[in-house]
Amino acid sequence: MGFLSKEELLAVIAAEVIACRKCELWKTRKNAVPGEGSAESQVMFIGEAPGYWEDVKGKPFVGAAGKFLDTLIAEIGFSRETVFIGNVLKCRPPGNREPLPNEVETCTPYLDSQIQVIQPKFIVTLGNYSTAYIFSKVRLPFNGITQAHGKSHETSISDMRVTIFPTFHPAASLYSAKYGERLVRDFRTLKHELAQKGLI
Ligand code: URA
Ligand code: SF4
Repeated sequence: MGFLSKEELLAVIAAEVIACRKCELWKTRKNAVPGEGSAESQVMFIGEAPGYWEDVKGKPFVGAAGKFLDTLIAEIGFSRETVFIGNVLKCRPPGNREPLPNEVETCTPYLDSQIQVIQPKFIVTLGNYSTAYIFSKVRLPFNGITQAHGKSHETSISDMRVTIFPTFHPAASLYSAKYGERLVRDFRTLKHELAQKGLI
C-alpha cells in the first residue's frame, strides 16, 4: 500500500465499500456510496447516509439537500471537485430511517480510512449523526447539533491536527427555512476561519 498515491488509496477504499456486506444494508441498497472528491482536499464534508437519489446514482448528496450543499460549498470558494464529500454510512437505510448504532460501528472504519488518507485540515460535520461520530472519536462532549453548530474545535485524530466544524444537515433546510439561514451563517463563519488559516 505504501507505493499507492492518495487517489489510488481512496479508490481501494471505494472498491471495498462497493463490495461490502458487513452489515444488513447491502441487501437493500441499489448502490453503495463511498463518497467522492479530491484526494488532496483540505476540507472534508461528512453527512449521515445516502438517501433515495444517492442510492440510485452511487454518489453523495445528489438530491435536493445536495443542491443546497453545492451552493454552500460554492459560497466558500470551493466546488464538489476540490473538496471531499462523504457519509457516516455508505449504504442507504431503507426508507431513509436513521442509522442504527451497530451500522455506524460496522461502517465507520471506511470513513476513518478516508480521513487518514486525505488528512484534511477541516472536517465539516453535517447534522447530528456525523457530528456525534466525529466528536466521540476526539472525545468532545456532544449535546446535539443545535448547541454545537458553528463553533470549531482544533483537535487531533491519530496525530493529525484537524479542525472540526459542525453545522446542520442541509436537508434540514428543506423542512424549515430557519435551518437554511443558520447554515448560510455557519458557512460564513467557516469561510472566515478557512481564510484565517490561509486555506482560501
Ligand atoms: N443526506 C446525507 O446525509 N448524505 C447524502 O449523501 C445525501 C443526503
Ligand atoms: Fe458495508 Fe457500510 Fe454498506 Fe454496511 S453500510 S454494507 S458496513 S458499506
